[in-house]
Amino acid sequence: MENTREIAAERALRESERRFRVMTETVPDILFACRSDGECDFMTPNFYAFTGMRPEEALGRGWLSMLHPDDFEASRGHWCECVRIGEPFSTEFRLRSRNHDYHWFICRASPIRNEHNSITQWFGACTDVNDLKNANAALTTGENKLKELNAQLEHHVEERTATLRRTLDELDHFSYSITHDLRAPLRAMQGFAKMLADDCADCLRPRSADLIRKIIASAERMDKLIQDTLNYSKVLRSEFSLQPVDTLAVLRGIVESYPQFSLSGVRISFDGDFPPVLADEAGLTQCFSNLLGNAIKFVAPGTTPEVKISAQSTDSRVRLLFQDNGVGIPKEAQERIFGMFQRVDKRYEGTGIGLAIVRKAAERMHAQVGVDSEPEKGSRFWLDLPRASHDSTPA
Ligand code: ADP
Repeated sequence: MENTREIAAERALRESERRFRVMTETVPDILFACRSDGECDFMTPNFYAFTGMRPEEALGRGWLSMLHPDDFEASRGHWCECVRIGEPFSTEFRLRSRNHDYHWFICRASPIRNEHNSITQWFGACTDVNDLKNANAALTTGENKLKELNAQLEHHVEERTATLRRTLDELDHFSYSITHDLRAPLRAMQGFAKMLADDCADCLRPRSADLIRKIIASAERMDKLIQDTLNYSKVLRSEFSLQPVDTLAVLRGIVESYPQFSLSGVRISFDGDFPPVLADEAGLTQCFSNLLGNAIKFVAPGTTPEVKISAQSTDSRVRLLFQDNGVGIPKEAQERIFGMFQRVDKRYEGTGIGLAIVRKAAERMHAQVGVDSEPEKGSRFWLDLPRASHDSTPA
């Protein structure tokens, strides 16, 4: 009976040893065992395959000679300390391969204790993390390079933006001066032509008088073009400061101060409440007078211009509506009329710049502009502005 039990135990032990051997030969890690004093007494074959050492060279403390000189002191010191105090060991170091290059390893070892809590052995594993380390290092280098390139790019963009801004300022200044200076000789031409027409009123043949009238009309048209271009560049150049504005007061001010709006044949009415908006007052005045000017201009002959101004508001926005009884605008032209020099109905005088000014000014006030219209049924232009908060007092 006793004999049978011993045979079974021995078989179990052999089986367990066989399993351990297969396991140690299968795992890619280097497994090792040390005595309680830290001297190595077992290494799996992959240590010898990696380093090219023989067991008699490696066991004991011989394996330490394979450590990278920069890692030697720290790793050895840490191992001795763990063995002394009986705490688990964990570190990273470089081991020299049989080809004399170094690989990074993570090495961990734990003490094995007997029933009296005394350390009888150490058991550990070293994992080759060289590819991971190299990939991480490449990643860090890549990231640093990317950061460096980003910084260079930002610097480059800043420089280019500053140069561009300077060039734009100069161009702006240049075109403003030209436009401004063009008006003086034009006025002289207009004045002299008028003087000529007056002085020679009796002696001019009808054809010559007609030609002088055409000169004056062309000069006036050119002056209007220059004036509108000047207004456009003013909207581009000037500082816009957004303040609470009482739109009704501004609208009434325009209607009262421009003669064309207070003519007896023009009807302009205001409907409902007009909450304060956040806008630049000069920019808003320019928008309103352009929209009102168009509303009374593009009206069929014989029709009395009628403009109804109202406001729709939400908590954050106010939409001002300018409804007219004019000739209307075909659907396909309703977007392009906000571009420069766009005119639809050439029977009416104009430069095609007024609505471009409105759109540019609107953009600068975080506002939008648009139109709903049907030919012969009138148009409704709208200007959508940020609403001024309740506690802000209109300027
Ligand atoms: P301008 O009035 O000098 O021609 P705008 O830029 O103000 O230039 O307007 C562009 C074009 O849009 C006008 O020529 C006209 O055809 C059309 N338009 C603008 N406002 C109205 C309106 N209220 N009713 C009908 N057509 C309009």
